[in-house]
Amino acid sequence: MQDLAEGVARFQRDVFPAKAELFARLATHHTPHTLFIGCSDARVVPELITGCEPGELFVIRTAGNLVPPHTPGADGVAASIEYAVGALGVTDIVVCGHSACGAMTALAEEHDLSDAPAVATWLRHADASRARTAAPGDVPSLVRQNVLAQLANLATHPSVARALAERRATLHGWVYDIGTGRVTPLPTEAPAPAA
Ligand SMILES: [Zn+2]
Repeated sequence: MQDLAEGVARFQRDVFPAKAELFARLATHHTPHTLFIGCSDARVVPELITGCEPGELFVIRTAGNLVPPHTPGADGVAASIEYAVGALGVTDIVVCGHSACGAMTALAEEHDLSDAPAVATWLRHADASRARTAAPGDVPSLVRQNVLAQLANLATHPSVARALAERRATLHGWVYDIGTGRVTPLPTEAPAPAA
């Protein structure tokens, strides 16, 4: 905890004054251009890998960068998506997977999750990702297929479906490699044209 307190003190002493103008504007404006959905993994830091400043990314981080498909019952992920896309009007939506993902490794290698029932239940949202992955144990392939499957889930949320139909937003799938810092965009299917 000591490190965090020192970090806060350093932020107030060095970082905040250097960006005082930015923070003054952000105090009354919230206009992110991108919804970034990444893994909760501590090694995947959205602003760092995209070079974005505070205020630019609306971030949702979940274990395995999973996005449950839309259901009538609301949840935190759905509410955050709806707010970012429907209310804030982000124009780009990124789902970012990453190398050495613990969630994807557990699935690909069929780890015993009986001691982690919440994790086991949550990872069911990657069932389609597993179904799309030909070789069992192939973590990099599952990471890629999972990004594509979560983009499909994302499109089931009404706010996203509407933004895609009206061509107000674009979906992007990325994989971040922790060891090299490389970001690889995945080919994504073009959204269906508006009826
Ligand atoms: Zn992960």
